Amino acid sequence: MTADTPIRAQPERPPETEAVVDAVVVGAGFAGMYMLHRLRGLGFSARVFEAGSGVGGTWYWNRYPGARCDVESMQYSFSFSEELDQQWNWSEKYAPQPEILSYANHVADRFDLRRDIVFDTRVTAAAFDDEAKRWRIETDRGDRVSAKFCIMAVGCLSAPNRPDFAGIQDFRGPIYHTGEWPHQDVDFSGLRVGVIGTGSSAIQSIPIIAQQAAALTVFQRTATWSVPARNESLTPEFLRAAKAEYPALRAKARGRPTGFYFPFNMKPALEAAPEEREQQYEEAWARGGLPFLGAFGDLLFEKAANDTIADFARRKIRQLVKDPATAALLCPDNVFGCKRLCVDTTYFETYNLPHVKLVDVSTTPIERFTADGIEVDGVAYPLDAVVCATGFAAMTGSFDKIRITGRRGQTLAEKWRAGPRAYLGIASAGFPNLFTITGPGSPSVLASMIQAIEQHVDWMADCMAHMRDIGATTIEPIQGDEDAWVEHVTDVSTVSLRSTCSSWYVGTNIPGRPRVFMPYIGGFPVYVQKCNEVMSGGFEGFVIEGAPASNTEPKVRLTERWRVPIDIDVISPAAVAARRVPMV
Ligand code: FAD
Ligand code: NAP
Repeated sequence: MTADTPIRAQPERPPETEAVVDAVVVGAGFAGMYMLHRLRGLGFSARVFEAGSGVGGTWYWNRYPGARCDVESMQYSFSFSEELDQQWNWSEKYAPQPEILSYANHVADRFDLRRDIVFDTRVTAAAFDDEAKRWRIETDRGDRVSAKFCIMAVGCLSAPNRPDFAGIQDFRGPIYHTGEWPHQDVDFSGLRVGVIGTGSSAIQSIPIIAQQAAALTVFQRTATWSVPARNESLTPEFLRAAKAEYPALRAKARGRPTGFYFPFNMKPALEAAPEEREQQYEEAWARGGLPFLGAFGDLLFEKAANDTIADFARRKIRQLVKDPATAALLCPDNVFGCKRLCVDTTYFETYNLPHVKLVDVSTTPIERFTADGIEVDGVAYPLDAVVCATGFAAMTGSFDKIRITGRRGQTLAEKWRAGPRAYLGIASAGFPNLFTITGPGSPSVLASMIQAIEQHVDWMADCMAHMRDIGATTIEPIQGDEDAWVEHVTDVSTVSLRSTCSSWYVGTNIPGRPRVFMPYIGGFPVYVQKCNEVMSGGFEGFVIEGAPASNTEPKVRLTERWRVPIDIDVISPAAVAARRVPMV
């Protein structure tokens, strides 16, 4: 079999043991799909392996009721094709999961991606052969592929966290995880349902499950901040007007710390009079969504400023929830927006329904599952079905499941044991030609992720093309530059209140994980500028080997749209702090 032999996604297909390609991509979510498109455009041969039976990643797996994006669809979508932007019509401000999955399938068809994607196949190992300077990739179907580049597009939120509750195997009913939802309709009509967790997935699904279930019991360990989405249908008039301005919107989005655009106010909350603050919060609450955090510029930097928005949001919860004891339980006592802010539709109001009950498991954890339900503090809650909305081993969970071996037999899991270490979140020393799309140490989950994906993919594609131009064999971060970047990522995180609480950003949602702030919080444009400088400077901080000496002149191929003009020339915690940028 040659590099160009297409593989069909057929369960009975024989393993492929002698394939040789330029690049193997692991994962066919938005990251893997766009990577494949870029590789093809550059004339590289590529093979994508995907554990699921279809494209879409997050939107293929998370089919739970109520799943939808929380970045507006007009911005939570690929921006690399103006024709795609103009031709695709989103039905709602925040599209539901089936529509986002249709979009992913449309992109796969439109750019003819499927013929290089092998579905139903999980990559189990990737090892760098230092003599051949190639990666050997293995799958659970017996495939063995040799590739010059190995690109991890495995996702930041793709390894479900299934807590090991005592007695879970004794439970007689079905147990679902939001991140692995069945493809068939799940009907909760007439059932007593338990939901564990109150993060974004729970908050989206609880109001819908409550409409079906005979009784709903929510087990809450930590109360969650949530803002009304104010979702709405997008009219043809709106779409026409928005599309006329689409390129400008995309450009503005790239210049924002979050990689998506929304109206924001730079003024510090602490400089506003109480009446002005109240009015600003009311208006932002009425507009709804993540931009609520853009009400003032200092909300994620100054605890006293944060207290003002937290007080406002707690008052809203008490107004929305009729029973004062339930309202008190639902009021978080932590930093507003410290964990990823949730965006809901009638979440708090759902607790006014007579058949919906909130159980506090903050001090007395879930004790056990029994055949008939869940026990907490000696009280039995009889249930017919349970939904675990317990989140993910974020950022590194899907890496942990692959045995990735670099130079001198070192595994990535060993290297990352005390926390992930990667230069720019793009590559890790000791693992030549291994790229990590939205890897730890890059803006990733703190930006609108499709923008973050596109920027990484374009940088990597430009880098691979450059290497081909100069006849190079390997690229690898220099240890010192990687260490400096990792230190910088940690330093910058300390300017934000987000570094102060327990969340999946710091890995503490999974027992035993080291506490490390994993995404880069310095802002998307600052990061893009750093990546551009690294490339323009001839891949500073990387060592490129194998190119004939005469060929090593840097030839910058930087994808045009990432030449984002910004006025920040120093990347330091102080510079970031001084910006007082509203970040969500
Ligand atoms: P994923 O979509 O996670 O795709 C990774 C793929 O890799 C998966 O299909 C997985 O099966 C595959 N894979 C992993 N390991 C292997 C292996 N070993 N072998 C083969 N295949 C493998 N972000 C936003 O910016 N805005 C939002 O509104 C938003 N909403 C979200 C809602 C939910 C419910 C969740 C869970 C996340 C949300 N996110 C959102 C984050 C979302 O993950 C990203 O926006 C984006 O979809 C990630 O794309 P990806 O391709 O990088 O990763
Ligand atoms: P999550 O935010 O990590 O929430 C998991 C929930 O489960 C938390 O409430 C957690 O409590 C609880 N939990 C975990 N283990 C538990 C245990 N043993 N006992 C009791 N409770 C337990 O996960 P998620 O809701 O799936 O969201 C993850 C991320 O995906 C989001 O932050 C967001 O980035 C993305 N997402 C986005 C959307 C959207 O609106 N577009 C929707 C879903 C997900 P603690 O807080 O106490 O740990």
